Amino acid sequence: MNTDLTRASAAELAEGLASKSISSVEVTQAYLDRIAAVDGQVHAYLHVDAEGALTTARAVDARRAAGERLATLAGVPIAVKDVMTTRGLPTTCGSRMLEGWVPPYDATVVRHLKDAGMPILGKTNMDEFAMGSSTEHSAYGPSRNPWDLERIPGGSGGGSSAAVASFQAPLATGTDTGGSIRQPAAVTGTVGTKPTYGGVSRYGLVALASSLDQAGPCARTVLDTALLHEVMGGHDPLDSTSIDAPVPPVVDAARRADVTGLRIGVVKELGGEGYQPGVRERFEESVALLVEQGAEVVEVSCPSFDYALAAYYLILPSEASSNLAKFDAMRYGMRVLPEGVDAPTAEQVMAATRDAGFGPEVKRRIILGTYALSSGYYDAYYGSAQKVRSLIAQDFERAYEKVDVLLSPTAPTTAFKLGDKLDDPMAMYLNDIATIPANLAGVPGMSIPSGLAEEDGLPTGIQILAPAMKDERLYSVGAALEQALLERWGAPILSKAPDLAAGLVKGA
Ligand code: GLN
Repeated sequence: MNTDLTRASAAELAEGLASKSISSVEVTQAYLDRIAAVDGQVHAYLHVDAEGALTTARAVDARRAAGERLATLAGVPIAVKDVMTTRGLPTTCGSRMLEGWVPPYDATVVRHLKDAGMPILGKTNMDEFAMGSSTEHSAYGPSRNPWDLERIPGGSGGGSSAAVASFQAPLATGTDTGGSIRQPAAVTGTVGTKPTYGGVSRYGLVALASSLDQAGPCARTVLDTALLHEVMGGHDPLDSTSIDAPVPPVVDAARRADVTGLRIGVVKELGGEGYQPGVRERFEESVALLVEQGAEVVEVSCPSFDYALAAYYLILPSEASSNLAKFDAMRYGMRVLPEGVDAPTAEQVMAATRDAGFGPEVKRRIILGTYALSSGYYDAYYGSAQKVRSLIAQDFERAYEKVDVLLSPTAPTTAFKLGDKLDDPMAMYLNDIATIPANLAGVPGMSIPSGLAEEDGLPTGIQILAPAMKDERLYSVGAALEQALLERWGAPILSKAPDLAAGLVKGA
């Protein structure tokens, strides 16, 4: 196995730990050292919990030494997106509104990680309340893309993708409401899955849009992603939309890596104009590689996908405006008193607090959502968007009568420069044009690296979509393609990223 513990895969670490050739304390310390060395440049973490991580690592090592049977990932450290509540650890959701809040309970996902014996390295940066595609909407400053520190690592889960891509964590958690796991994976050369809606519990996630939100795994390989998916998933009575069924056989599928006879549909509406040439080239090459491996490829049309972005930006703000109403300065979180008012009313305190606590993108979406839900406009906006949502689900159903999985580029471009789209919400929203349909229909999706774009040498992602509750198909296709691409590039794509510690990165 790789002697540099931070370069090893989670699967390799798990093997080394099981055979006792390495200890969890060694692995965890190696990662904490790496964080200390490079996170000043990347800013993947909002909070690092060295003491907590080492305490878990020591406990797992002791249990293993005592001969206890442990979970596969026991002792493998992980980074947690700051949207997930962690008992005793700050949870800000990238917002001033929750600055200093220490939750009294764990999200179910976090409890699963702890039950599996995984040391939690810290909490990762994100766009405020998971709104954005770049982490630039974080109240605590952006994370940076390890491939080029002047560029964005995607969003909203850019802290998680940057942590994994810069070898500051072997695994990380994410949430994906419109693409926040898959788009960050695409622009950092890593892997991320949005499971089937209801496949992973939402209990303890700070809600953005409850009918779209889905937590999922971030990692560097397809197998590692599957191993984490298995730990995160499963039925949770605390989440009323949780699926009461076993986690799909994702690890087996990732190990089998077989696409022989599989029918693959390339979505006509997700490609072509508006997609960077290098992204398209890598996408077409990946499709050709899958054909070489025995898959059958056809073009599929999903005409309603053209309206997905518009429908999403009505449904999401509507749900968000309702979910964020709880930040009212009364129950928990920040409280700001209006200046120059002797005896402020509750409404004045609320207004002053929300003015100071929410950033511009959050305010924009609350206003948009409140408007879309208002009585005079409800049918015209929210109602129409819900109809489009049904049409999109029907497009998927029709497509899956003909094919087993669908493919598209994950994001239309490679990582853009920090600041480039910050003042142009529409340009920012367009990053999710290919990822949003899956959230609207509740179907699972994955992004894996498809290579480097010719024109800028930056990573591109390919998106795999499967029918609901068939998450394992993402992993058989993802793993088969990953193997083919390994031969094509001669090494894992992420190994071509500049080494941060060596200070070789532009802008470092
Ligand atoms: N970028 C999308 C948005 O801003 C997706 C966010 C997400 O998936 N959390 O809404």
